Amino acid sequence: MMKTTIYNQLVKIINENNIAIDEDIKNHTYTKLGGKADFFVTPTTYEEVQNIVKYCLEEKVPFTLIGNGSNLIVRDGGIRGIVLSLKNFDKITVSNTKIVAQSGAAIIDTSRKALDAKLTGLEFACGIPGTVGGAVYMNAGAYGGEVKDCLESILVIDKNGEMIRRKAEELDLAYRYSNIQENGDIVLEATFQLQHGNYDEIKAIMDDLTFKRESKQPLEYPSCGSVFKRPPGYFAGKLIQDSNLQGTRIGGAEVSKKHAGFIVNVDNATATDYITLIKHVQKTVKEKFGVSLEREVRIIGEELNEKSVINTNKE
Ligand SMILES: Cc1cc2nc3c(=O)[nH]c(=O)nc-3n(C[C@H](O)[C@H](O)[C@H](O)COP(=O)(O)OP(=O)(O)OC[C@H]3O[C@@H](n4cnc5c(N)ncnc54)[C@H](O)[C@@H]3O)c2cc1C
Repeated sequence: MMKTTIYNQLVKIINENNIAIDEDIKNHTYTKLGGKADFFVTPTTYEEVQNIVKYCLEEKVPFTLIGNGSNLIVRDGGIRGIVLSLKNFDKITVSNTKIVAQSGAAIIDTSRKALDAKLTGLEFACGIPGTVGGAVYMNAGAYGGEVKDCLESILVIDKNGEMIRRKAEELDLAYRYSNIQENGDIVLEATFQLQHGNYDEIKAIMDDLTFKRESKQPLEYPSCGSVFKRPPGYFAGKLIQDSNLQGTRIGGAEVSKKHAGFIVNVDNATATDYITLIKHVQKTVKEKFGVSLEREVRIIGEELNEKSVINTNKE
C-alpha cells in the first residue's frame, strides 16, 4: 500500500501533528540505534488508539507498539507501517492502596508516586527505565520483585480492536513473560495493588537499589539492559565473564566491561553490530559451558537490504 494512502487515512483519525513520517527510531530507543519508522504516531485519546488499530486490522497495515524502547533492538532497515507510541498517556492516579498508571507513564515515576503516597510494593521498579505498558508486557522485575507481585488488572485493546479489562491472573505472568507477548493486546492502563508502608523504609529500599544499580550497571552508555534471560541454575553475566567476552567489540557495540550481561553502544553501533555480537556471545558461551543463552531483549524491524515496501494483500 502506498504511504500516501496510509497518511490520508491516518489524518482522518488523528491530528497531523501527531503523525511523523520516516521518523528516526534511534530517537526513541535506549540503544540509540535502528532505522526509520514509516509512520510514528502518538495518539492522545483511547478512541484514537482504537480507531488506528481497527484501521490497521481492516486494511492489513502492519503496526508495532513501542514503549520507552529500553528492551528493543530495531534493525537498521527500520519498521514498515505504523509505529504506535502511547507516550501521551502518562497519568498516574493514586487512590487509597491502588495506583492506576497509564501505559505511557514511566514505571520509575509510578514507583516514586507510590513512595510519595507511602505505599510499598513497587520499590523494585525504581530503576527500570521502561513504560508501564512495557513493564507489564515483559513482567519486568529486579532485585527479587516483579510486576506480577503487585499487578491487579490491566485495561487493553485486544486483537479485535475491543477495549477490555484483564485480571493479572489471566496474563500467565512468569519470568520476563506475559501472554501479551503472544496475543497482541495493547496495554492502556495498569492497576497496581500496593500496601500501606513507612515512607522512610520505602525510600531506604529504593536508595539502596539505586546505589546497587548505579555501581554495577554501565548507565553511562546507551544499552538495552540485560541482553539475556537468566538461564536456570546460572547467571548470564557470570557465564559471559568466564568466557572472557567482556570488552569484545563488533563495530560500535561492546560487551560491557562493567556488567557482562549488558551490551553497550560505545561508538555509533548499528543494529547489525549488536545482533552479530549477541550471536557471538551465545555461540561462545554454548561452546564453553554448553548453556544456551536466551535473549531477553526483543529484536524487531527489517534488515537494511530488505525491500522497503509495506506488504498487504490489498495492492
Ligand atoms: C539500563 C537498563 C536497565 C534495565 N533494567 C531492567 C531491570 O532491572 N529489570 C527488567 O525487567 N528490565 C530491565 N530493563 C529492560 C527494560 O527496561 C524493561 O524490559 C522494560 O519493561 C521495557 O519497557 P519499555 O517501555 O522500554 O518497552 P519497549 O522496549 O519499548 O518494548 C518492549 C516490548 O513491549 C511491548 N510494549 C511496549 N508498550 C506496550 C503496551 N502499552 N502494550 C503492549 N505491549 C507493549 C513492545 O511492543 C515490545 O515488544 C533495563 C533496560 C535498560 C536500558
